Amino acid sequence: MLIVMKPEATDAQVDEVLQVIRDLGFTPHPMPGQHRTAIGITGNPGSIDPAHFEFLSGVAEAIRVTKPYKLVSRDLKHDDTVVRVGDVEIGRGAPAIIAGPCAVETYEQTMEIGEIVAASGVKLFRGGAFKPRTSPYSFQGHGLEGLKILAAVREQFGLKIVTEVLDTETADMVEEYADVLQIGTRNMQNFSLLRRIGQSRKPVMLKRGMSATLEEFLLAAEYIMAEGNYNVIMCERGVRTFADHTRNTLDLSIIPAVQNRSHLPIIVDPSHGTGKRHKVIPMARAAVAAGADGIMVEVHNHPERALSDGPQALLPHMFQQLVADVQAIYKVIAETDVA
Ligand code: PEP
Ligand code: MN
Repeated sequence: MLIVMKPEATDAQVDEVLQVIRDLGFTPHPMPGQHRTAIGITGNPGSIDPAHFEFLSGVAEAIRVTKPYKLVSRDLKHDDTVVRVGDVEIGRGAPAIIAGPCAVETYEQTMEIGEIVAASGVKLFRGGAFKPRTSPYSFQGHGLEGLKILAAVREQFGLKIVTEVLDTETADMVEEYADVLQIGTRNMQNFSLLRRIGQSRKPVMLKRGMSATLEEFLLAAEYIMAEGNYNVIMCERGVRTFADHTRNTLDLSIIPAVQNRSHLPIIVDPSHGTGKRHKVIPMARAAVAAGADGIMVEVHNHPERALSDGPQALLPHMFQQLVADVQAIYKVIAETDVA
């Protein structure tokens, strides 16, 4: 059930609807829009009789939701969601660019790459302190030490930190240091982790599972939103296919598909999406041309020495080229978009 308030509805009328929902034992999710407020309802085991709401003052209509997801849906919130990370807005005005090494390796390495990223005017820095690795013998990240290095990069360059939360056990620790909590592809359907992150009030970047359908991707975001965290950024990072010229197949057609069904912003990671440095700039350009709200890329000043994902890391001069190209293409799309 979705309650749409009249454009002129007062705060008191909205509050009354929220109270009726709570009195029924369910959870209300008010979503103020540009023209009207809509209220999603979760926690109801079956359908709710619209008569509970139809005659309350300020209510325009009570609509049955037929899709399996509710809060991520454009039916609930027509306007695009803009996720704010401090003074950085994701989903409006300029492309969000997130850049940094795959993993936090040393203090010096992270600081050097932080300087390169900050010098390009980019505001969001990535780097894994907890790394999800296919082999248990590969470098697993420096954990808390890595988080402290990221905090030093924030302090030194004023960059906001995007870093992965690998499990519920370390979620408190990562939450303390991160500005954006990253959920990796392997965890997109880790439902207890999604619920835990939903209880946080820090923005979340949710990466698409490597074999997830659009509906599964949206439902993973719904898990987070259902717990009350509405600041979710979707991230396409490539899916598994038979193609063997690329690490993954970057599915750019998911961009308009997500935008059609959901109000949430969507960014693209062409680094994990391709696995090869020479493919990253072309696919970043294509992602922005297809309407992405931003890009996440891996950058390294000595990729040959990187402890993970060296072959896909951009060299500093390539990163500068990417930033210029992404900004130019974003501007063209923003000026000409009629959709
Ligand atoms: C990452 O961005 O650090 C990462 C591990 O990516 P993914 O979860 O997409 O593999
Ligand atoms: Mn990586």
